[in-house]
Amino acid sequence: MRHYVYDFDSTLYATQAVWEMWSEMLVGAGLDAASVFASYQEVLPRGYSPRKHIDALGLDDALRDCLIVRFGAMLTDRSPSLLFDDVAPFVESRRDAHRQTILTQGDRDHQWEKMRASGIDLLVPRVVVTEPSGSKAERLAAMLAEDPTPITFVDDNPHHLVAVHQSGLPVTIVRMMRPGETLAIAPHELDGVAWKVVASLRELD
Ligand SMILES: [Mg+2]
Repeated sequence: MRHYVYDFDSTLYATQAVWEMWSEMLVGAGLDAASVFASYQEVLPRGYSPRKHIDALGLDDALRDCLIVRFGAMLTDRSPSLLFDDVAPFVESRRDAHRQTILTQGDRDHQWEKMRASGIDLLVPRVVVTEPSGSKAERLAAMLAEDPTPITFVDDNPHHLVAVHQSGLPVTIVRMMRPGETLAIAPHELDGVAWKVVASLRELD
């Protein structure tokens, strides 16, 4: 028995596609691409959400509400197909014999909005959302203290992978590199050293 702990964004779900649709929507509404990106980066450390992003852009209320409604409709429409193809079969094949948890970070409401829209919350009912500044390594330590089942941790973000590696926790670390996702571009010196690199959960079979 293993305990699979999955990141959500860009690991199970094509978050980059959401960002592209959303930024096109903002640019289509007349905002310039440079300030859309600058305000995105400004919001990120507080836990990204489209609402915070729009507030940072200082739009008037009518345009703000219109964009939020359009974003919600787009998310509902597109999210089921934004779960990567290998996710449902992999998770379902491990449902009975293993434990599975999603460990995600950011704005709680926005993370749940994406997870619910994608349907992943029905496939993996155990979900932990940490604060934007929180440590995934600390969460994994707490999980192991509660239940010693060996953990396989799958994440696309080298920041978390390095922290888990340095923690010395008995965790099998896997770096997910989905083609096209933001953090899947640059190789890391610990690739193949501290963790296995995969482009699909199928490679963990
Ligand atoms: Mg991620």
